[in-house]
Amino acid sequence: MTPNIDDGPAPEQGAFRVIPRSQHSLSRKSISTGALRVLYRLHEAGFRACLVGGAVRDLLLGNRPKDFDVATNATPEQVRTLFRNCRLIGRRFRLAHVVFGREIVEVATFRGSSDDGSGDRHLVDGRLVRDNVYGTIEEDAVRRDFTVNALYYDIADFCVLDAIGGMEDLQRRELRLIGDPQQRYREDPVRMLRAARLAGKLGFSIEAATAAPFAALGSLLDEASPARLFDESLKLFLGGYGLASFHALERYGLLDRVFPATARALRGEHAALFRVLVEQTLRNTDERVRADKPVTPAFLFAALLWEPVRAQTRAAIEAGTEPLAAWAQASARVLGEQSRHVAIPRRFTLAIEEIWEMQPRFLQRTRKRVFRLLEHPRFRAAYDFLVMRGAESPEIAELAAWWTQAQALSHEELSQQLAGAPAAASEGVAKAPAKRKRTRRRRKAKAASAAPVAEGGE
Ligand code: ATP
Ligand code: MG
Repeated sequence: MTPNIDDGPAPEQGAFRVIPRSQHSLSRKSISTGALRVLYRLHEAGFRACLVGGAVRDLLLGNRPKDFDVATNATPEQVRTLFRNCRLIGRRFRLAHVVFGREIVEVATFRGSSDDGSGDRHLVDGRLVRDNVYGTIEEDAVRRDFTVNALYYDIADFCVLDAIGGMEDLQRRELRLIGDPQQRYREDPVRMLRAARLAGKLGFSIEAATAAPFAALGSLLDEASPARLFDESLKLFLGGYGLASFHALERYGLLDRVFPATARALRGEHAALFRVLVEQTLRNTDERVRADKPVTPAFLFAALLWEPVRAQTRAAIEAGTEPLAAWAQASARVLGEQSRHVAIPRRFTLAIEEIWEMQPRFLQRTRKRVFRLLEHPRFRAAYDFLVMRGAESPEIAELAAWWTQAQALSHEELSQQLAGAPAAASEGVAKAPAKRKRTRRRRKAKAASAAPVAEGGE
């Protein structure tokens, strides 16, 4: 448990507290072997070496850290000379990665708070684009984002070092941005998303002054690098606390900044059912991450953007566009718009389109089509998506159940069942209109090889 802290005013920023081993709960036993080796090696070589950031925070809370970061007064080049299994990365923040099999320990040099011109710090319009000015541990602490992320565990004496009241905020279960919130968000708007993510993950509240600028400064996220926002989205939704993070984004009005189409659809005509799909997908993803099962961003983005793409397709069909073209146009438009905020790599957008475009194909249950679909490389993801959509209507739930059962049957059994079924029954739940005509057209269209023949499930 965290140590008792005398009541009284919060420590001034810069008031350095040293919490001895006997008064905190962070034990070496819960630090990864890789991180311990890095800490000891640096220490033996005469450098200051501390565990820092999320790992210290999580261990003090009794949680298992996702990764272990080390801070030191050794420069990246000095770190490299100490470890053979080390590579230097990053331009914006130059770091050393020390690799132990599957574990990567990130080693950062203490960063300074002022630049006398000798260092390498670069701001553009108040935004921090490069920061390689080295400094003391106290200076390093104030450059971090939240007070609870600025705690250090010193391998020299196993003390926890708290330069800015992080221990107290940890006990209060509160995220407090270090320094002037306006300035810190202008330096790096992604800190707003980090606040929501960590609040969701830790079950912490966001201190009032830290949350206050979201409304006014949220639009700075429109200018943030889409590639960085993709990375941040993965942390948000595939880090094991996706549902909680999503709720935090919504509560703090940040979903509109990063996933505007999703946010709008969650206020739109089909909001209730769409919410079930999104939340179910996130819950399911969280369970898989915690059980160490693989997850793909494609599946999650397919769910987050499902209602927008469906609404646009529906509107286009009503306006007279042929269904196949309506789907293709809507997919391209929705993914294009989303990519202006979050750069979804091409391999994932292709997979998303396939998951979407296979949905209507589940309706067609003739023998040939069923077997073709079962062999499709993306079948599993598209089927899982259909299961997620079960809440949309009893018909979709029934359709998903049919495909579940189809997979449990042997090839012969399924073949027999499909052969015995009258055509209408095998079309089942919803009839795909004018099937034959579209089939022919589909064969002709090269790009439409995985495209839908009708809007699914309606
Ligand atoms: P997680 O549990 O998700 O790993 P974390 O706090 O460890 O959470 P990381 O992205 O691993 O997050 O970052 C490690 C540390 O680096 C943070 O705890 C914080 O001290 C610092 N940090 C990360 N991003 C920023 C930022 N944008 N601005 C300032 N400090 C940051
Ligand atoms: Mg971390």
